[in-house]
Parts: sequence; C-alpha cells; structure tokens
Amino acid sequence: MSGPVGAEDVERPIPSGPPPGAVVEILASREATVGAFPVRRALPQRGRRTVGAWCFADHLGPGTVTAEQGLGIGPHPHLGLHTLTWLLAGEALHRDSLGSEQVIRPGQLNLMTAGHGIAHSEEGTGWAGPVHGVQLWIAQPSATRDGGAAFEHHPELPRVELDAAVVTVLVGGLAGARAPTRCDTHLVGADVQLRAGRTVLPVSDHWEHALVVLEGAVVVDGAPVVPGHLAYLGVGRDELPLDVPDTARTLLLGGPPFPERLLMWWNYVAREPAEISAAHADWLEGGPRFGTVASPLERIVTGPPPWPAERSRHPAG
Ligand code: MN
Repeated sequence: MSGPVGAEDVERPIPSGPPPGAVVEILASREATVGAFPVRRALPQRGRRTVGAWCFADHLGPGTVTAEQGLGIGPHPHLGLHTLTWLLAGEALHRDSLGSEQVIRPGQLNLMTAGHGIAHSEEGTGWAGPVHGVQLWIAQPSATRDGGAAFEHHPELPRVELDAAVVTVLVGGLAGARAPTRCDTHLVGADVQLRAGRTVLPVSDHWEHALVVLEGAVVVDGAPVVPGHLAYLGVGRDELPLDVPDTARTLLLGGPPFPERLLMWWNYVAREPAEISAAHADWLEGGPRFGTVASPLERIVTGPPPWPAERSRHPAG
C-alpha cells in the first residue's frame, strides 16, 4: 500500500483513534480464592506482569458473607510491597505485626507498607451481607523496599465530578485532586463511577495505564471491557475517553513503566531468589523480621519456593 501521495490521500481525513503506543489489550483474569472468598486476579498476567508499580490486582466478589462463612485470612508475611484495600461493599478487620487493628468500610482505604517485612491478617467483623472490593499490590522501589513497615488508614479520599463520572482518587493525582496516600513511585489509582455517556480522563502520556472494570461495561477505543478482565491501554495517551452505555464502575491504574525486574513468589516481591528464600526462612522460623499478629486465626505457611535451595547460610564444620 505504498506509492506516491496523491491529492486523494491528502484530502482524506486523518482517522481518529488511539495515539501511537496506545493499545487495548483485553486479558482475562484468573479465578482464584482468598481464604474461602472468590476473587478474579487481573494482575499479574503471563504477558503483563506490571502496570507502573502495580503488580497484583484481585477483584473480590461481589459475593456474600454470612456469620458462619466470613472473610478470614490468617497471619501471613509480605515483603517489598504495599497492599491497598478498597471496598465497594462489606467490612473487614485488618490486624498487623505493628499492632494496627483497623476496620475498613466502603469509601475507606487501607495501605500497608511491607518494606523489609510485615505480617497481617484480614478478618471478618461479624458483619454479614454483600462483599465487593479490591486488593492491590504496589511494588516498592529499591530506595524503600528494605525500609520500615508501616500502615495507614484513610477514612476519606478526594472525589471529583468529571463529565459523566465521579472519580475517587485512591493514590496519586487525577483531574486536579490528589490522594493523601503514601506512594514511593509516580502512580495513579482511581475508582471511577460512570453514568451513561462519555467521560474523558486526563492522564499522563509518559505513563502506562490499565482498567479493571468492577461493574457494568466500559468501552475504550471501541472495545467493550467488562468485569473479569484487565484492559491494558499502553503508553502515550494524554486523555482516556471512556464510553458507557449504562452505568459502570472501573478502577484506573497507571504509572511510569516499572524500571526494575521484579521477582514475585507467594506474598513476597523482590529482585533475587535469595532474598525471597531468606524472607521465607524467617517466616517459617517465626523470627523477629515479621513479628506477630494478635489474630485468632491460624498462621499461614506454604512453600518452599520453586527454585533449588540455597547452600546453608550456616554451613556445618
Ligand atoms: Mn496480605
């Protein structure tokens, strides 16, 4: 289809479409369970490990908990990441090895920083009814990943009206609003509640973005995106038009492509197998790195990691 450019070609309008570098890759989430609760794991994917520093995205429910069958994930360790919990419905109790004890409800955000090591549990509150939410992990950069653990709870987050949407900014900034949430790298995370019509989100063209649709259907560049998928949108957009036939709710995740190669196994995010082997040995031994969680639930153990054991750090003789 090459050849001299004729008048016909010059007159032809430039087709509107996504800018170069922008794509719409629709990747199916994996079905999994966390405790006894069904989740759809949108990240990591075989062909898409991260979106910015976002390295894990579980869409919890929607489902129902009863007094007998509630949320309950016993104490387990984390390394080198932040966990972010955001609920659309339900309640959960967070406990961690720093002594934090915090109930989270819809509209509130928990951010736990693991750094060199933390342990936590997620428990029911006795409350029964619908549960719907997300748990996301953010990889920490090398500058902070060996640092201290921390926990923060944000009872309120900034909300912005934009076109046919109400945007709640969870992390970073969007549409003139900025979340109070800690972030160690440039990052955006937002919950976008959409009415019928078109909403154009202003985004950074140096960043990559993705959608995890939580309710309804969102059309991006003509491609419908529904719950149970990650829509990876590439780099190079300075605005992101979302067309919604009815009502919908989606997460927007984005950031500069993460510059370091991550190694993830179980609840650990690191760079080298030896770091994870050492952390996991500390968890199994119950050493001081991960501390203790004042939880009635049983501590979770698993493993070993799927690579050859290291030579002992304390060789005999
Ligand atoms: Mn956890």
